[in-house]
Amino acid sequence: MVIPYITLRHADGTPEFGRVNTPKLAECIIERRCQLCARKLTDAAVLMARPQDFGYGYVPEPAQHPECAAYATKACPMLSGRLPRHRDRTRPQRRQCSRSDACWCGEPPAPPNADAVIRSGRAASPWYSVRFSMDEYEVNMSARKGPRGISLHALTHRKVRLVTWGHPEKTDLARVLLFGLPEPDAGSGS
Ligand SMILES: [Zn+2]
Ligand SMILES: [Zn+2]
Repeated sequence: MVIPYITLRHADGTPEFGRVNTPKLAECIIERRCQLCARKLTDAAVLMARPQDFGYGYVPEPAQHPECAAYATKACPMLSGRLPRHRDRTRPQRRQCSRSDACWCGEPPAPPNADAVIRSGRAASPWYSVRFSMDEYEVNMSARKGPRGISLHALTHRKVRLVTWGHPEKTDLARVLLFGLPEPDAGSGS
């Protein structure tokens, strides 16, 4: 199993699936690196996006190589850097590693989402893959807090595919129509 580069790790090396290392996340976005393997993105790349991201105009996570995105889509969703975006923000369970004296897990609980959650969302939201050429790669920067994500507006030749439909709420269905996003084929059962 591949542990994504942006996954938060404990001092003993254990990955904390479902949480991201914020500096690594920013590094990947700015340096045009893949969130799974950390290598440079060169020709084509893939972003994973939800309907609301098309409204905001950017995706708040790094892109991936097409083959890395294909792997991450097939692998357990826990492995994906996406999870923090649809995790329940109420009460993260606390688990300590063997080096908690020297690790973030030994510190008092941080306020919810301090370093983990990029943006809250829900597991039922549809997910899309957005394939694009790195020629159109553009970072959406905030004035004081570094990169917000990767611009969707800049991707004029993007190819959007439905990955999972989930159980969208009305707001998501409205966004799907508004942004002209693909819907499941009738009768395909997916
Ligand atoms: Zn730890
Ligand atoms: Zn990769």
